[in-house]
Amino acid sequence: MAESGMVYLVGAGPGDLGLVTLRARELIQRADVLVYDYLVHPDLVDWVRSRCEVIYVGKKAGFHSMPQEEIEALLVKHAEAGQQVVRLKGGDPYVFGRGGEEARALAENDIPFEVVPGITAALAAGAYAGIPLTQRNTSSSLMLVTGHEDPTKHELQVDWPQLGALKNTTLAIYMGMSRLPDILKGLQSGGLAADTPAAVVQWASLGRQRSATGTVSDIVARAAEAGLKAPSIIFVGDVVRHQESVDWFEHLSLFGRRIVVTRTRSGNSALRGKLEHLGAEVIELPLINVVPAVDRDMLVEVISELGMYDWIVFTSANGVRIFFEHFYQAFDDIRALGLLRFACVGDATAKEIERHRVKVECRPKVATAEALAKAMIATGSLDSAKIVTVTGNLNRDILVKKLEEARAIVDTLPLYRTEKLDLSENAAAHDFRERGADAILFASSSAAEAYASQADSLQLSEEAKQPLLGSMGPQTSRTLKELDLTVDFESQAPGLNALVDALISRLNES
Ligand code: SAH
Repeated sequence: MAESGMVYLVGAGPGDLGLVTLRARELIQRADVLVYDYLVHPDLVDWVRSRCEVIYVGKKAGFHSMPQEEIEALLVKHAEAGQQVVRLKGGDPYVFGRGGEEARALAENDIPFEVVPGITAALAAGAYAGIPLTQRNTSSSLMLVTGHEDPTKHELQVDWPQLGALKNTTLAIYMGMSRLPDILKGLQSGGLAADTPAAVVQWASLGRQRSATGTVSDIVARAAEAGLKAPSIIFVGDVVRHQESVDWFEHLSLFGRRIVVTRTRSGNSALRGKLEHLGAEVIELPLINVVPAVDRDMLVEVISELGMYDWIVFTSANGVRIFFEHFYQAFDDIRALGLLRFACVGDATAKEIERHRVKVECRPKVATAEALAKAMIATGSLDSAKIVTVTGNLNRDILVKKLEEARAIVDTLPLYRTEKLDLSENAAAHDFRERGADAILFASSSAAEAYASQADSLQLSEEAKQPLLGSMGPQTSRTLKELDLTVDFESQAPGLNALVDALISRLNES
């Protein structure tokens, strides 16, 4: 064995990203290998380092998941190669997640491991559907039980009549949807009253959460009416009575709404977070991919003569990120930047620069190349100034032209390229094509352009809901109109909060 490998069996919680533990996050961020399956929020996978190997072992449309023994062998293999392996599972790894089997396989192979608990689905379903799981005087025990959705598997059978005889107990049934009528019959034959309250909660904690409540005698019909399927938790017990009075999640202003946000770079999740906290189901469409594409000669020249420049200009956070990666490879002291002044457009770009404790001296209110040029000219420092602009392949020559008109000497340093992503196999795009959405939010002109460039891959099916288009501000609206897209609502002030406000008022109108 090389360096000693280790496996972490990590619970990813029920879905909502905020319900992941700090320990889980830390481990994901430093994993060499991440093994995950169905029911794990896809964004968690974005937390890994770029050199982490990501392996999906879950079910995919039309495919079965990887057999359990193979998963175990995979964990052992990578750990024996000295790697830090994170095995991520929905909910808690030891609650109906076969985590116990994986732990045993690791122990048998002398692989060191750690288990990180997660919030199991029943706890999330209770909290987010307004069902307290225990209640003084009426419900003094909680039972987590599996409904065994797959009767072809040889598993221990649950004694439903015996569970039906229990008093003052809340049952939380996992994997029970396809056998619900049988399960309820079994419970009733043990003595459970037909008027016992029952509920089904699908996709608990997520914006796509849906629930139905009723009694043992009508919950099957009510769940079917609401279109509920797996993954769901079925609750049976007196506590379901409290649902109406303590529900909070399903009353949020965007609950039940499907909102599309375009994703033009990884980690662009501030808007998503805001929408999800208001209960929305967010579909993040990845439209373009940013890949480093460095002009080596130019890079060497700029880095070795950094002191000669007066200004460095960034138009995207990607540019900042890639620039600093190279900068730190060349220098181990931030003072190598000398007196270089920083200019940029956009919140995200400025934030990325400020992470290095470097002040952005020039930044226009409006995020356009024209506004940036104007703001730089207004500093009165451009005559004969040497400027380097860090660019991608979509950058506007207009910036360079305007700066040169102001008699600056401008070098461009290409560091990345923006590519159109192939959306034919993408899950979010597929979901959008099939079901549409209530609205699409465009946070920038480049998002609008990326969306339009993908129009062919985003054709809605006939049943899909036609989305309203929302824009971040006048500039984005102008771009949308130029692209022949209608602007249904526009943010009244800068910032994401105003965009969300505009969305809510527009949705409330219709
Ligand atoms: N280890 C997981 C359970 C895995 S079994 C945990 O601790 O939660 C898979 C079952 O979990 C699903 O069939 C469903 O019953 C339940 N489940 C998982 N995530 C869920 C969610 N977000 N909402 C409702 N049920 C969920």
